[in-house]
Amino acid sequence: MSSAPTPILGSMRPDGSRLAVHPADVSGPWIRRRYLAFAALIAFYVLAPLLPVGGHPAIQLDVAHRRFYLFGQTFNAQDFWMVVLLALAFVFGLLLVTAWRGRIWCGWACPQTVFLEGVYRPIERLLDGPRERRLRDARAPWTGAKVARRAAKLGLFLLVSLAIAHTATAIFVGPRELLAMVREGPAAHQVAFGLTMGFTAILMFNFTWFREQFCVVVCPYGRLQSVLHDRDSVTVAYDERRGEPRGKLYRGTEAGATPPGDCIDCRRCVVVCPTAIDIRDGLQMECLACLQCVDACDAVMDKVGRRRGLIGLYSQQRVAGAPTRVLRPRLAVYGALFLLSVGALFASLAGRESFEANLLRPRGANPFVLDGAIVRNAFEIHLVNKAPAAERFRIAVAAPVPAEVVIGTPAIELASLADVRVPISVSIARARLAAPVELEVTVEAEGSGARRVQALRFLAPLAPITPPPR
Ligand code: SF4
Ligand code: SF4
Repeated sequence: MSSAPTPILGSMRPDGSRLAVHPADVSGPWIRRRYLAFAALIAFYVLAPLLPVGGHPAIQLDVAHRRFYLFGQTFNAQDFWMVVLLALAFVFGLLLVTAWRGRIWCGWACPQTVFLEGVYRPIERLLDGPRERRLRDARAPWTGAKVARRAAKLGLFLLVSLAIAHTATAIFVGPRELLAMVREGPAAHQVAFGLTMGFTAILMFNFTWFREQFCVVVCPYGRLQSVLHDRDSVTVAYDERRGEPRGKLYRGTEAGATPPGDCIDCRRCVVVCPTAIDIRDGLQMECLACLQCVDACDAVMDKVGRRRGLIGLYSQQRVAGAPTRVLRPRLAVYGALFLLSVGALFASLAGRESFEANLLRPRGANPFVLDGAIVRNAFEIHLVNKAPAAERFRIAVAAPVPAEVVIGTPAIELASLADVRVPISVSIARARLAAPVELEVTVEAEGSGARRVQALRFLAPLAPITPPPR
């Protein structure tokens, strides 16, 4: 490593006060790919609560009524355990990706980065110009023009924040309800209005001022890096063996000699960094794997006629010139856990029924009633329509011996996620109960043809049945 003094360009001054970061513009293949990823993710965020799939928004989390619609599938509170599987799949997937490719999530898919670099920063560049102008402007005294520029920028930021917050609200209440709420005004929907405005205020605070501090100070994921990575994890790294000793590039008759290392110490990789770190100092917690420094350094290498890749996606082993491994125990463990959780999630989704039909015996009541020579069982079916549309159900009870069956409502229509308890009574002559009797309860959804058959033991006294006196 060079003995050149490490410049102070982090997001903190030596006295601990905040130093605003103004990353320079950069272009290159990684940045282009990143903007494509941002566009796809923002389009997904905006469209998912709006576009209908199976009669409901592609994503609607109606927490108030405990109804959740995801890509044509309908879930209720009883399906919450699937959320646990989904969360496990996400966590293990993140562990796997981090151990394999570093903090790629942070730089490419985290909403903090997607909205900051994909929306707010481009607006700032449009109004305030490139880094040099922004730095000059930050130091310049307040003038009418500066106030007007700041007001325009904050106004646009506010519009974007309001749009993001309203989209978030639409995820919970649905687009039609959101429109109705907007039309009826804040007084009629004070809680929803308060939450939306609160979220807007958080977005404004975060994206106008807090910015990279969220990743550096608040987010716990960055701090987990050191335990998730190993020396074979591929991260953004500076090829020190090739770059050092670094030094200015001298040409022609200029004084001095060009050092043999490929790094010309132009600091371009530092000024483009959104967390203001110098990747030449080694892997750091603040690195978001955004790859801006890779594009920046490659452009410099092109200009000075040197090979690209002085900064790139390398493992620490490779940078040190040591043998590298792709398959490691931690990758195998994270991969197995990820596949297990994804497999369990898909198996649960595939095995989901379009309705629930749970047989319930009355609580606290006798399990059977003796009525002379007749034994009577009463129970209920708790029916829940989990299809995204209304459905008509038929209920039938069959017994292997003659029985009198009374069903509260043998045919019933239920709206999506509506439920009902249907009382059922079955009466059988005691003389027919010499052997245990299994009832067969069938529920059929007329629209989809889905059918569920359940067995229920008919309960009767254990005492031997004596024939009635002559
Ligand atoms: S951009 Fe490349 S050449 Fe310039 S300082 Fe960074 S590593 Fe060195
Ligand atoms: S060091 Fe490079 S990859 Fe890491 S955050 Fe800075 S610019 Fe992005």
